[in-house]
Amino acid sequence: MKKKVKIDPGHGGKDPGAVGNELLEKNLTLEISKEMKKYLDENYTEHEATLTRTTDIFIELSERANIANRANADVFISNHVNAGGGTGYESYIYTKPSAGSVKLQSIVNAEALATAKKYGLGAHGDDSKQDNLAVVRQTNMPALLTEIAYIDSKDADLLKNKNFIKDMAAAYARGVAEYLNLPAKIAAAKKEEPKVSGNKPNWADWQWQEASGIYKKARGKGILSSDQWEKKALAKDLTFDEIEYLNLVLNGRNL
Ligand SMILES: [Zn+2]
Repeated sequence: MKKKVKIDPGHGGKDPGAVGNELLEKNLTLEISKEMKKYLDENYTEHEATLTRTTDIFIELSERANIANRANADVFISNHVNAGGGTGYESYIYTKPSAGSVKLQSIVNAEALATAKKYGLGAHGDDSKQDNLAVVRQTNMPALLTEIAYIDSKDADLLKNKNFIKDMAAAYARGVAEYLNLPAKIAAAKKEEPKVSGNKPNWADWQWQEASGIYKKARGKGILSSDQWEKKALAKDLTFDEIEYLNLVLNGRNL
């Protein structure tokens, strides 16, 4: 069964959301959400990611939750931009959250904050906030609301940086994928390529990085004892034989 991810770009149409530094929240949330779906579709299988809106239209808060409920979504993530003159990333779950929402928030926050840090952005206050917000209250599935950064502070420089938007959206996507245990596309890409013993696969950068990440995680869990594999993957220096060996070692282990 494909996991359903409902991505909600905050505001829209007659509701611009927060405004500042020549930026409109409603445009940024749509951009973040589209990038998020793109990253999920390009890097993971076994899911169906859809947006509550793909254009500049107004949708009531309850209707956003209803859209996710009617679709029987497995995860709901509403993307927003903060205002009020602060700085940093933060996220919200409901005040009486399900265990799933708590887990989702912690995983997405870890990814988002690691990415934000690369741009010199931190967390705004504590990173496990709860609030009685309609979209996280009225949704039946694990639900999270993200606030990427502040539109009316120095954070606005980052919001004008397309790479920042893309990377943060990718971080949200990786968090959701990890929460849902979505298989990475690396396996599918491998199958298409004829395997010749001793040869190295012609993978894209992200596939090598993904592989390295998997080996690193396996080492963290004691399944692999050496860091040579993650280093070799980063150096794009693994043969099909070695990858097959690693697949055998990792096969069935809960990573
Ligand atoms: Zn908002």
